[in-house]
Amino acid sequence: MKIAIIGAGYGGMAAAWDLKKAGHDITIFESANYAGGLASGFKALHWNWSLEKFYHHWFQTDNEMLGLIRELGLEDKVIFPRPLTVMYYKKKWYPFDSIINALLFPGLGWGLNKIRFGFVGLFLRITNNWRALEKVTAHEWMLKWAGKKVYEQMWEPLLIGKFASFYKDVNMAWLWARMHARTTRLGTFEGGFQKFADLFAEKLRKQGVEIRLGVSIKSIKQDQASRSLSVDDESFDKVLVTTSPNLMAKLCPSLPENYLKGLLGLKSMGAVVMTLSLKHSLSKDGYYWFNVPKGEGYPFLALVEHTNFVPKENFGGDHIVYAGDYLELGHEYFSMSDDELLERFIPAFQKFNPEFSREWIQKIWVHKTNYAQPVPLVGHSKNIPDIQTPIDGLYFASMSQVYPWDRGTNFAVEIGRRAARIMK
Ligand SMILES: Cc1cc2nc3c(=O)[nH]c(=O)nc-3n(C[C@H](O)[C@H](O)[C@H](O)COP(=O)(O)OP(=O)(O)OC[C@H]3O[C@@H](n4cnc5c(N)ncnc54)[C@H](O)[C@@H]3O)c2cc1C
Repeated sequence: MKIAIIGAGYGGMAAAWDLKKAGHDITIFESANYAGGLASGFKALHWNWSLEKFYHHWFQTDNEMLGLIRELGLEDKVIFPRPLTVMYYKKKWYPFDSIINALLFPGLGWGLNKIRFGFVGLFLRITNNWRALEKVTAHEWMLKWAGKKVYEQMWEPLLIGKFASFYKDVNMAWLWARMHARTTRLGTFEGGFQKFADLFAEKLRKQGVEIRLGVSIKSIKQDQASRSLSVDDESFDKVLVTTSPNLMAKLCPSLPENYLKGLLGLKSMGAVVMTLSLKHSLSKDGYYWFNVPKGEGYPFLALVEHTNFVPKENFGGDHIVYAGDYLELGHEYFSMSDDELLERFIPAFQKFNPEFSREWIQKIWVHKTNYAQPVPLVGHSKNIPDIQTPIDGLYFASMSQVYPWDRGTNFAVEIGRRAARIMK
């Protein structure tokens, strides 16, 4: 078959890998000039490594991704350093990346709350029954089982930070998935995620996959007589789309109303992430990931000092810091200039290190996306669009369909390969 794939993110590339191996003729169309999608990176001239536009890492449980990397023969390039993740309590930061550190964390006291926190964590790691958990909101479930103190200290700030006004609506299966499938050890690719995307694209090309970069597809139509699909003006037997649900609806408005309604009914958050190259380290203690409580007046959700995860020598000695947030579309950050955003963020950087001054800043980059995090509501499984659309030969695989898992490159690979199995 002659198959078109729209998008050279990990979903599209993973599907192409399997479909090519099954003997089909594959063309990937990608609007950007590079592969990697949301997990792509950029590089200053004096850096050896690329840097992800939006902070990225893998978990040790990312079996789909790590398995694919082994298949590609690139496993010696995956590293799992031991960066420190910290939680906030009464204006101080505490390591929170092991059971011991969780037990030592003062924010939960020493009595019943810590025991409840431990039991809830254990239960969520053990149970596989996410279908029961998707019937209730994370807000209600955690208040009931973890208690008010644990909920307000640990889970409410995360939910508010990630989902803003939807935070009381997100179902408990979302939190289950995070607790169930994540590890404290975090991994990355030597050279950065972009290096991996480029190597993957190169291997696909070697297999005979055609990747057309810088081509933004405008429409997909079905030819009523031949039943083939036109991708702009080119004809294919089958097409897999890996964009956001909104873009899918725009690409193919002739989809039946029910399917279109399902696509457009899916909620998601956008993201705005500022990257700074600094002359000095921001975290005096060498911390990597700060879980920032937005409720305490911070203007972002996560502060990530990337060069406390991988050595600064990969970036010409620059100290790399991200400040990022998940936001509803229409939030003012989407229309603010980079300098306006920096002015908003600078006072917060001083809270992490009082010695910080604007002279430390060598350069900033701001990356924005409308589609960063699907919002799973109660009973969400019934809202997930089928990979096989009602149009013969047209398939759709996106972050919004990896549910009950939370979005991630691991699950992009999983759904890409699942789509390939259905299409073969
Ligand atoms: C802030 C943030 C942090 C994240 N952190 C992590 C993390 O730590 N670890 C992790 O594993 N994952 C993380 N993710 C999620 C991860 O990036 C995604 O789950 C994954 O990259 C999705 O892959 P995909 O192939 O489904 O979609 P995408 O990567 O979105 O790929 C879709 C592709 O389609 C292209 N496209 C769109 N429209 C068209 C068109 N009309 N014509 C041609 N091409 C088109 C796009 O340019 C894009 O390249 C994060 C995401 C964000 C936003």
